[in-house]
Amino acid sequence: MGNVIHAEPTEVVAVVRLRRGVAGERKRVCHIVPIPDAGPIPEYLTALCGEFIVPGDAEVLDRICGMPCEACLTRSARRARRLPH
Ligand SMILES: [Zn+2]
Repeated sequence: MGNVIHAEPTEVVAVVRLRRGVAGERKRVCHIVPIPDAGPIPEYLTALCGEFIVPGDAEVLDRICGMPCEACLTRSARRARRLPH
């Protein structure tokens, strides 16, 4: 499935985690971050939970592994339910 999850038809999100050394282990949770589908990657990305992520400080993961950010997961599930079926 690659390293992106299609949360909404028009939106691509990535699973990112702060790199080791950038943040303490307890802060190294997997955030879900919407990625703009056009243009350059912005200086700051904002995770679904509101956390600011500097792209250079984070690693992109294939899937959620380790400790997920619960706030991101909750918001992601809520958004997915809004999808038409
Ligand atoms: Zn988060």
